[in-house]
Amino acid sequence: MDENNNVLVVTPHPDDAEGGAGGTIAKWTAQGRDVVLVVTTDGRHGTSDRSVDPADLARTREKEQLNAANVLGISEVVFLRFPDQGLVDGPELRERIVREIRRHRPQTVVTIDPNRRYIRHRDHMVTGRVTLDAVFPYARDHLAFPQHLEEGLEPHKVREVYLWSSEEPDTFLDITDTFDTKMKALYCHVSQVGEPSSARRERSMARHREVGKRVGVDLAEQFKLIEVWR
Ligand SMILES: [Zn+2]
Repeated sequence: MDENNNVLVVTPHPDDAEGGAGGTIAKWTAQGRDVVLVVTTDGRHGTSDRSVDPADLARTREKEQLNAANVLGISEVVFLRFPDQGLVDGPELRERIVREIRRHRPQTVVTIDPNRRYIRHRDHMVTGRVTLDAVFPYARDHLAFPQHLEEGLEPHKVREVYLWSSEEPDTFLDITDTFDTKMKALYCHVSQVGEPSSARRERSMARHREVGKRVGVDLAEQFKLIEVWR
């Protein structure tokens, strides 16, 4: 087991990680944890405006994501640039995520829960599922993607995985001190959330306050926690 306390966050689209875990990420970076963000898709379909060119939108969203990462104290953003709404659960995506795990060697991985029933975004499901598969068993086993060894990337055991947007949350983390940072990061995604509004802030605060009640704090984010190795 590595001695570092690094974190790797894997998000389907720019803005999903901020909404699901932005307060927690800001808290961890303030504590000195090194957080790297992997964005699996290019987000080019994220608009209802018919005049927007998808390639332009993808470029805009990368800039927005870099701004948000900066607000949260994230040290590096890796854009995998798979097509939005076209993500496939297969060896190509799996290899890319295993590579980032072996390169960054996180103690903690954070991603979206793939197991929502009925209405769910395929990119969300595939990102969460492939990230869990990458954690176990692929990143651990030297015979999985053995070309990594030739590049000096050793197998790695992730200790724990936090899943946001879970239908079965069991872990509630206090983000009272970083809620404002989370909102600031969310508002970097101008193409998705528009201009800051007090109504939106109130709605968001009410939601986080409900979660906070579960553990007796003012504001909290919720996750399903999977302990892979103790
Ligand atoms: Zn999304």
